[in-house]
Amino acid sequence: MSQNCTVDDTAPTETAHALTIRDIRWWSPTLFSLTLERPEAFRFLSGQFARLGLPVDGEWVWRAYSICSSVYDEQLEFLSIVVPDGVFTQALKDIQVGDTLWVDKRNFGTLTTDRFRAQDELWMLATGTGLAPFMSVLRDPYTWERFERVVLVHSVRNSDELAYREWLENLAGDELFGEFAERFRYIKVVTREECPGAFALRIPELVQTGILERAAGLEFSAERSAVMLCGNPAMLRQMKTVLQERGLSVNKKSSPGNILWENGFLPEDNRQPDL
Ligand SMILES: Cc1cc2nc3c(=O)[nH]c(=O)nc-3n(C[C@H](O)[C@H](O)[C@H](O)COP(=O)(O)OP(=O)(O)OC[C@H]3O[C@@H](n4cnc5c(N)ncnc54)[C@H](O)[C@@H]3O)c2cc1C
Repeated sequence: MSQNCTVDDTAPTETAHALTIRDIRWWSPTLFSLTLERPEAFRFLSGQFARLGLPVDGEWVWRAYSICSSVYDEQLEFLSIVVPDGVFTQALKDIQVGDTLWVDKRNFGTLTTDRFRAQDELWMLATGTGLAPFMSVLRDPYTWERFERVVLVHSVRNSDELAYREWLENLAGDELFGEFAERFRYIKVVTREECPGAFALRIPELVQTGILERAAGLEFSAERSAVMLCGNPAMLRQMKTVLQERGLSVNKKSSPGNILWENGFLPEDNRQPDL
């Protein structure tokens, strides 16, 4: 950026929407949801992600964020972690209702149910904010037309990180989606504290021990399972191996296999977070 140039001068008005924050909900001291106005022109598929931008200390910072809201919502919703020392989230956590957040006009990502073919049982396995794309998938009527059974597994460290828990536990009472509740299983995993009704083992261990399938009342099958994974890189790696050992295959553009995933952290991140 030139020294005479202010952030306002460099606002990316051609490539991004400047959107007003309508609502903020804190789930825990390090996890919150943001609701923004949605421009009519902003279209996406459930499961895709957007790029959010903010000026931080005079420089524009952009980060990938999965879209949480339904493709039919009039608002856009995102779920965000607060990373200690994270450049973007340390700024985002202070944002207030009425403030502006920038959203790239394009959307990205292939964690979408249209990638599957004959499979009619959908498994969505998430750690932490990996829940976000699956909230959009769950709030899409197409999901319920397309799949006979839908299972969501959400693994977090502490129970207050079970974002959207109330809605997920009470789907039967939802005006739009209540009729599908009998075909839905919501399985909670809390690894760092006791939480009644939640498992304490990590997702790969729950699969290896058969506990997850018993809880879901479904078995992984090469013919019927469509599995979407989102979250920390360690879970993705382990689950790909575990599921391949069970005969499931990776979904590629050239072959509509069973397993799709999105690394919900930075692509270059190689650390193995402790979820
Ligand atoms: C495709 C994609 C989708 C994403 N969707 C979301 C989302 O819906 N919500 C969200 O909060 N973040 C999401 N992220 C991560 C997001 O892009 C940023 O990395 C995050 O907001 C932190 O930004 P930062 O600048 O504060 O820290 P960064 O410098 O970007 O990250 C610092 C470190 O924090 C850790 N970290 C980053 N993101 C997370 C996370 N979500 N959970 C746990 N640890 C993390 C990683 O170890 C990373 O190396 C997504 C990333 C990708 C690639």
